[in-house]
Amino acid sequence: MNYDVLIIGAGPGGIFSAFELTKLNPELKVAVFEAGHELSKRNCPIDGEKIKSCIGCKSCSIMNGFGGAGAFSDGKYNITNDFGGTLYEYIGKKHALELMEYIDGINMRYGGEGTKLYSTAGTKFKKLCIQHGLHLLDASVRHLGTDKNYVVLENLYNELKDKLDFYFDTPVEKISLIDGGYEIHCAKGSFTCKKCIISVGRSGSKWMETVCSDLNIQTKSNRVDLGVRVELPAEVFSHLTDELYESKIVYRTQKYGDLVRTFCMNPKGAVVNENTNGIVTVNGHSYEDPAKQTENTNFALLVSKHFSEPFKDSNGYGESIARLSNMLGGGVLVQRFGDLIRGRRSTPHRMTDSFMTPTLNATAGDLSLVLPKRILDGIIEMIYALDKIAPGTANDDTLLYGVEVKFYNMEVAVDSNLECCHKGLYIIGDGSGITHSLSHASASGVYVARDIVK
Ligand SMILES: Cc1cc2nc3c(=O)[nH]c(=O)nc-3n(C[C@H](O)[C@H](O)[C@H](O)COP(=O)(O)OP(=O)(O)OC[C@H]3O[C@@H](n4cnc5c(N)ncnc54)[C@H](O)[C@@H]3O)c2cc1C
Repeated sequence: MNYDVLIIGAGPGGIFSAFELTKLNPELKVAVFEAGHELSKRNCPIDGEKIKSCIGCKSCSIMNGFGGAGAFSDGKYNITNDFGGTLYEYIGKKHALELMEYIDGINMRYGGEGTKLYSTAGTKFKKLCIQHGLHLLDASVRHLGTDKNYVVLENLYNELKDKLDFYFDTPVEKISLIDGGYEIHCAKGSFTCKKCIISVGRSGSKWMETVCSDLNIQTKSNRVDLGVRVELPAEVFSHLTDELYESKIVYRTQKYGDLVRTFCMNPKGAVVNENTNGIVTVNGHSYEDPAKQTENTNFALLVSKHFSEPFKDSNGYGESIARLSNMLGGGVLVQRFGDLIRGRRSTPHRMTDSFMTPTLNATAGDLSLVLPKRILDGIIEMIYALDKIAPGTANDDTLLYGVEVKFYNMEVAVDSNLECCHKGLYIIGDGSGITHSLSHASASGVYVARDIVK
């Protein structure tokens, strides 16, 4: 065998597997294969001047490379079982929280020290939310910020680079079962290993589907989250963000009984493009360094769509809607809330007249031509509900960027070791459909590394 353990994907799941493996048993021969670039070569060409919007690079530096989708993220590590994935269903709630705290400790030792840990424990906002039909979820959140998150990744890379083999710009094409292990095939040849950890994240979702079909691994999938990213002056949410940083708030719409929730809140942050398999959607992040902060806060408002039989392709549904916005806007669309309510598109002229300065250069348009009525109605209802706890949310100039889609990888059948039906083949992180966050993906990496060493 070329390797004892071969890891596919260098996102948080893959990195923390590698970290724990090499820490617990330095004798192990470990390799990491990553489709994207090494950290220092990751660079999104959008500079806001020469290149204003996504040009569809072959390997998207936002999503791929050392650090995974999390590298330029806000670095919000939510320590909770209430959201971010269902890892606790496999390993238990207590163990899941312990692992997330363990990850937090590593992040602190590798450059994150001094960053703030926010908590919803004992907050007055819980009561305020309930009074207006909104529900604030419990969590502690470590906010590294995009800048410190990068430093932590740099330090982790320096720690690991001499202890194992990294293969960057090397997408794994195929995995086959061999006697006593696995063989992976890629442009650099074929490599064998005793154990294999697949941690390919959301960007690897299509590839993961082929692996599951080739190796007869059971999957189930039927969920996609669709919505918009809201951007408003930071003052509107400052009372919440100063205390909690990120508030995960859930609202049940009166019209349809659907759940709408806030997601990925970025105080004084920036809205960014995200390219998943060639489809441009929207996301957001913010810096810890005050010099890099903006005057706006952004967050997503998402509605989960679960489908029942016979429809199975929930991601395909989300993609079609995102494609529609790309078709109309050449990328992401932006609309003022006032224009949406008045049933008219936003125009460049109306945007310039507005009091808000957008942080993303998106095409002014009409989101009602893109998002299904039921989803848009839910988002509008929640904006009015949020306006009661954060007056100003429903102002005419509040910006809505669309579409934001959270694709869920199909959930892969794994046991309580996160091992699939083939012994020694572990499927973790967002690519397994079990986690949807930095903390849960990282925790799943440590968990399988410990199992392998044991
Ligand atoms: C802009 C943005 C902001 C975010 N902000 C936050 C946040 O603040 N907090 C939070 O909790 N979550 C956030 N997320 C989500 C978070 O980044 C993910 O949940 C997390 O990165 C998942 O980790 P992972 O290791 O499972 O997968 P990923 O981070 O997606 O890593 C998977 C890696 O596998 C590689 N890969 C894919 N296919 C192959 C293949 N065939 N061969 C080799 N390599 C392959 C990819 O290139 C990628 O680098 C954000 C995401 C984005 C895009």
